[in-house]
Amino acid sequence: YEPPAPAPIRRLQESLINRIAAGEIIHRPASALKELLENSLDAGATSIRVTVKDGGLKLMQIQDNGCGIRQSDLPILAERFTTSKLSTFADLSRLTTYGFRGEALASMSHVAHLSVVTKTRTSTCAYKAHYSDGKLAPAQPGQSEEPKPCAGNDGTTITIENLFFNTPTRLSALRNTSEEYARILDVLTKYAIHNPKVSFTCKKAGSSSPDLNTPSASTTRQAIKMLYGHTIEKDLLDTTVSEKTKDEEESWSSEVYFTNANYQAKKTVFLLFINSRLVESSRIKRALENVYTGILPKGASPFLYLSLKVDPRSVDVNVHPTKKEVHFLNEESITTRICDALQEKIAEKSHSRVFEYQA
Ligand code: ADP
Ligand code: MG
Repeated sequence: YEPPAPAPIRRLQESLINRIAAGEIIHRPASALKELLENSLDAGATSIRVTVKDGGLKLMQIQDNGCGIRQSDLPILAERFTTSKLSTFADLSRLTTYGFRGEALASMSHVAHLSVVTKTRTSTCAYKAHYSDGKLAPAQPGQSEEPKPCAGNDGTTITIENLFFNTPTRLSALRNTSEEYARILDVLTKYAIHNPKVSFTCKKAGSSSPDLNTPSASTTRQAIKMLYGHTIEKDLLDTTVSEKTKDEEESWSSEVYFTNANYQAKKTVFLLFINSRLVESSRIKRALENVYTGILPKGASPFLYLSLKVDPRSVDVNVHPTKKEVHFLNEESITTRICDALQEKIAEKSHSRVFEYQA
């Protein structure tokens, strides 16, 4: 046996490394949108308008009325590890914002054409800037890359075009634009329920009627009704469960909206926010679904929205943006407490219904 001659080890080009790293953070249009939404919410926006072309692959634009970005910050905006949200290591454990790693915009600039129009309240005009590979770039070849003053509203509009234009394998894996659009709407729907005071709209470019449209200043219940249909309302229960311990790190609180025994969906709808960040946990989902065994007929599923607040020190939610499945301190006992509360409330409601009927 004659093994092949070893190939020389070479250092990858910087731009290739960045492109690979960006693909780890931005998986598809919906994951880019999630980052952009969180930035808008971090900026205190009360209105977020999204426009999408070809499932977000051709274009995705997010317009917010948040605090805007200072002109002097524009040159480093899309550099990796530039952020206004974290400055010391200690900050990491008290984070209240979604972002902190300063990687989202940088990543987008490596795998898409990124442009920004932004205006702070104190600036007399807006500025427009284009980015490529983490740096300011000219809008057209030969032009200056300096951000240009322009007319614009208070807040920030971020546009990403031709997502994955330079990573063809990724692009070819995402050919179903209507599926990508459905994922975008799903992320927006969930954030709209978790942020009922913020107005969200989403439409396809060129369409005059939005596919998602929520007013500002709603309640959670109104938002759920608006987005998941009127019929859910009469079957929707809610409760709060919390625990205050001597050790602050172990205190937690939760708010749950969930359907009763009369509601039967084909598939479980499960929204999980931990410290206001949309995350996934198949363990928590399964535990909550189990509450409905014996309550719902076989094949029927509930609606569940759980917003859990734990001490930032006890959760790894923010550790890595791609870490979708989260873990936190006392996860099992917290989940059990919440399940018990649901069970109790569902039983209580069905008893009172029987009682009313008999009376
Ligand atoms: P991070 O959110 O982790 O800080 P990002 O790459 O998402 O990193 O954003 C970098 C910085 O750009 C943010 O810290 C923030 O200062 C600014 N920024 C991004 N989007 C917005 C926005 N919509 N409104 C105001 N500032 C923004
Ligand atoms: Mg961010």
